[in-house]
Amino acid sequence: MKSQRVSVKQAYLLPVGSEITVPGWVRSRRDSKGITFIELNDGSRFKSLQLVVESGTVPDETLRQVTTGSSIAASGVLVDSPAAGQPVELKVAGIELYGTADSAAYPLQKKGHSLEFLREIAHLRVRSNTFGAVFRVRNALTHAIHRFFQERNFVYVQTPIITASDCEGAGELFSVTSLKLGDLPRRSDGEIDWQQDFFGRPTYLTVSGQLEAEIFALSFGRVYTFGPTFRAENSNTPRHLAEFWMVEPEMAFFDLADNMRLAEEFLRFTIRHVLENCREDLEFFNRYIETSVLSTLEHVVESTFGHLTYTEAIQALQDARRTWQFPPEWGQDLQTEHERFLSEELFKKPVIVTDYPKVIKPFYMRVNDDDRTVRAMDVLVPRVGEIVGGSQREERYDVLVQRIREAGLDERAYWWYLDLRRFGSVPHSGFGLGLERMMMYLTGLKNIRDVIPFPRTPGNAEF
Ligand code: ATP
Ligand code: MN
Repeated sequence: MKSQRVSVKQAYLLPVGSEITVPGWVRSRRDSKGITFIELNDGSRFKSLQLVVESGTVPDETLRQVTTGSSIAASGVLVDSPAAGQPVELKVAGIELYGTADSAAYPLQKKGHSLEFLREIAHLRVRSNTFGAVFRVRNALTHAIHRFFQERNFVYVQTPIITASDCEGAGELFSVTSLKLGDLPRRSDGEIDWQQDFFGRPTYLTVSGQLEAEIFALSFGRVYTFGPTFRAENSNTPRHLAEFWMVEPEMAFFDLADNMRLAEEFLRFTIRHVLENCREDLEFFNRYIETSVLSTLEHVVESTFGHLTYTEAIQALQDARRTWQFPPEWGQDLQTEHERFLSEELFKKPVIVTDYPKVIKPFYMRVNDDDRTVRAMDVLVPRVGEIVGGSQREERYDVLVQRIREAGLDERAYWWYLDLRRFGSVPHSGFGLGLERMMMYLTGLKNIRDVIPFPRTPGNAEF
């Protein structure tokens, strides 16, 4: 029989009577009165395709091996389905068996598994309903990100992963070396001789592509980077990974207000794209993970964000008169409990906090006229807290040198960054969106380990 090979997603779009072959993995199997019902899934959409095998159509020896987890290609004809919740099913004429799966050993059974258990089998969890939905949403989100910037003529720039500079000046870096750790070359004073290392100096995995993106913004105007970033913060929270993906647009001639407008437009655009393209997956999250996912997202695409300064935020937190684990105090960074209060309770939508004290923000943020605060902006969303961090950059050479010194950094290491302020400096701004934080917001999942294919966290680098 000559039939066209299609995905489950395509099969649902074909007319009844189509002769097709559908390859995939068996989700479940049930035998009843001479008929075998098989749920076949190939990852193309949330919903599986029901295969109906009447006894005698497929050799017993083959059908016996079609168990949960096995891989097959089923051929047959699409027919109207009498079952609820599916328009069509496949009346099977033949099955090709690719790989069996020992049902006693296969860890994914029909009954639900905890997210914690599934994390331990990251090589198989992608075949579950939850993680199928997660990674289709993640794919749609990354597509939306590129679409948003490409439609606005941003240039995509690939910034390096290995770097010699500590962007934030905050430490928390992973070292990159080819030296033998058990036999480090020493100088006469006993210090490690980095000149003998691969790059002839200490190097690290990047914590951000921003500084290099600024170089490109000062030629192309509008650029973005989108890649992996690394932080050796040993925080072990449900919102931090050691390796995560960051989207970082950087725009010349943008002040903080322009920057905030772009961030808002960007978040609304990407959310709308996912709403339009992943309805089935979001409905699953809404039903089984977090009941407010759909209503929140639909609300956000229609509303503008809240705005307040850091100083106003501290005042509002103090006025709230509740017992905080970390009592809010001017000069201290906002904690997750504060961020969530502002977005979840005070505004009940995403809010942008601006003008943080300069002492708690990196050296590159533009200093305000009050000399106490900087042109920073953080976007906070319900459930997750900080999702975007950004700022207008300091474009004044003298002020920037001063800030680098105050941060205890060596200005010579930043010679090229300072050069950007010597040759054709312009006001410019940018922000960083943590892809996995956005994924938590979109799916309602509460642990960041469940929205990245293979999480890297303290003590965990399996797979
Ligand atoms: P936080 O206070 O939540 O640790 P941050 O202030 O260190 O965040 P930035 O340095 O501004 O964050 O980084 C930009 C964005 O990257 C953040 O808004 C967040 O979405 C994301 N992000 C930061 N650190 C992590 C991490 N360890 N794991 C996952 N995402 C992160
Ligand atoms: Mn952090």
